[in-house]
Amino acid sequence: MIVSGIDIGSRAAKVVVMKDGEVLSSAITDTGPESIKTAYTAIGLALDGTGLRLEDIAYTVATGYGRVLVPFANENISEISCHAKGITWYFPSVRTILDMGGQDCKAINCDEKGTVTNFVMNDKCAGGTGRFLELIADVLNVRLQDIGELSLAAGNGIPFNTVCAVFAKSEAIAYLRKGVSKGDILAGLHDAITVRAVNLLNRVSIQREFSITGGIAKNKGMVRRLAEKVGMEPLLCDDPQLVGALGAALFAQERLEGKGAEMGKAQYGYSDGTGEYYITIDMRLCDGCGKCAEVCPAQVLVADSGRGGKAVVKEDARKRLALLCPGFALCSRQHVVNCHSVCPTDAIEHSW
Ligand code: SF4
Ligand code: SF4
Repeated sequence: MIVSGIDIGSRAAKVVVMKDGEVLSSAITDTGPESIKTAYTAIGLALDGTGLRLEDIAYTVATGYGRVLVPFANENISEISCHAKGITWYFPSVRTILDMGGQDCKAINCDEKGTVTNFVMNDKCAGGTGRFLELIADVLNVRLQDIGELSLAAGNGIPFNTVCAVFAKSEAIAYLRKGVSKGDILAGLHDAITVRAVNLLNRVSIQREFSITGGIAKNKGMVRRLAEKVGMEPLLCDDPQLVGALGAALFAQERLEGKGAEMGKAQYGYSDGTGEYYITIDMRLCDGCGKCAEVCPAQVLVADSGRGGKAVVKEDARKRLALLCPGFALCSRQHVVNCHSVCPTDAIEHSW
């Protein structure tokens, strides 16, 4: 049984391929401007050298920022659920996860099965994220992979008033001009990010054991400071950047085993400054009758022959849902017959 998990993050795309419950291969590549192309590149890299083709994968779960744009995914699941699932596979005793990704940071509590019990996230600004560290590495002209070690080797960190990406960059430049060493600047920035991350963790609860996931977990300076501030040595897996994709692959495996049916829903859409626009189709309820696709005036739904005719949102509509579909309430007023009214199993939900 071959399954895969793909995590399309804002900075990197990660894939884990599993065979009979064991990790067979994995890949990490940069996220390009086109999510669909990135998804194919990432899975191609992971399959390279395995003798397998995409068609050999029985089930794929997509997660991450670009999860709704993975054409070959059977389902998409939030990265919060996938990180909890993935880390529990490595360390069943972990109850607190700090996921430090490319553009956001999340604090998660989970139980022994990897089910999320609480979470908070900081996605409002780039401060303290992978993107922020890239920016700072760029300003200081040091390699991203070296900044953690440099921060550890430094003496006293320079206190930073902010981790706002814009202001911190200006502060870093000002310190450089004053002759402050790059190490001291990096130490100060790492300290500031750590304080912010611990504040996030305190908004859930810091329970033993503790783990850090995401690309920043490879930064030794950050890990050391977090361990000191949290007062607990984090459990780190081989490649913390792959945990989300691993969790997605584990969900894929569960689907084939018929487990976790409560999550057998495919969600398409996005949220933006104007609201949340998601169409969710419960794959367990959808019987593949195709009626919703026939009546949808906006033609956003289609019967997927690869999945026994089950309904999916058309690929080219996923990023424009709010423009194409007026939402359930308005569509019902305008059209007596719509996807909800014809669905015999009540399998479709709209968030707006
Ligand atoms: S609510 Fe109307 S426009 Fe939107 S998907 Fe359903 S039938 Fe199509
Ligand atoms: S009408 Fe309902 S059961 Fe039929 S294909 Fe659409 S979602 Fe599935």
